[in-house]
Amino acid sequence: MRSVFMSELSWVEYQARIERDRAPVLLPVGATEQHGPHLPLGTDALLATAVAADAARRVGALVAPAIAYGYKSQPKCGGGQHFCGTTSVDAATLVGGVRDAVREFARHGVARLVVVNGHYENQWFVTEGIDLGLRDLGAGAAIEVVRLEYWDFLTEATLAKVFPDGFPGFALEHAAVIETSLMLHYHPSLVRVDLIPDDGPAEFPPYDVYPSRRHWVPLSGVLSSARGADAAKGRLIAEEVAQRLAAAIEARFP
Ligand code: ZN
Ligand code: MN
Repeated sequence: MRSVFMSELSWVEYQARIERDRAPVLLPVGATEQHGPHLPLGTDALLATAVAADAARRVGALVAPAIAYGYKSQPKCGGGQHFCGTTSVDAATLVGGVRDAVREFARHGVARLVVVNGHYENQWFVTEGIDLGLRDLGAGAAIEVVRLEYWDFLTEATLAKVFPDGFPGFALEHAAVIETSLMLHYHPSLVRVDLIPDDGPAEFPPYDVYPSRRHWVPLSGVLSSARGADAAKGRLIAEEVAQRLAAAIEARFP
C-alpha cells in the first residue's frame, strides 16, 4: 500500500492523490515540550501524527508533515516554559504557520483539510490561523477545514476503562496515562517505563500568575502519575480515536 505520508510521496504522486482521488489532507500540530523523564520531547507531534496516520489509512487520506513547534507551554497543562528542552513559538508564529499551510494546501487543490491538534495550548491559535487563511483565500475558496483535538474522540466508556479510579481531566493528562499509553502503543522504543515518576496529581489555584511560579509544577514535569499506563490501554485509546476520527472525516467529507 502506498504511504499515507505526504513527505514520502513525489509531487506527481501527491498531485494525483489530491486531484484524482480528492484525498483529504490531515495536518498534525504538536509541540516540542518536556514530557517528564520517561517520554520524548516530540511526544505531542508524534502522537498527533500517529493517530492521523491511523485514521488516514482507513479513509484514503494523506498526512502532511507536522507543525512540530507549539504555543508556549502553560504550567497547568504542559508544565510551563521553565523546562530545558521545551521549545515554543509566539502565538503569532503558530498562527502564521497554520495560515500559510491553509493557503498552500488550497493552492494544491486540497478541498478537505483536517488539522489534528496534539498540544492543548495550541487550540485558539490554530483556530485563528485557519480563520485568517480562509479570509486570505476569500469567499470562493474550495477548501473546507476541520479542526480537532484528538483526545476529544475518546468516549466516556473508554475513559472509564483507562481510569478505573477516576479521570483527572485532559489538562492534567500531560505526560500521564493517556500520552504514555499511546506512546507505548505507537513508539514503545521511545518510552522509559523505568523512569515514570510518582508525582501528582498536581494541584493548582483557580487563577494563573505571570511570571509563572515554578514551584506550582512537579519537578519531573508530569502533572499526574503515568503509573497506570500500558500498551494495551494505548491500543484501546488509539483504536477508538482512529476509528471515530475516520468516521468523522467520512461523514464530513463523503
Ligand atoms: Zn503532550
Ligand atoms: Mn503539550
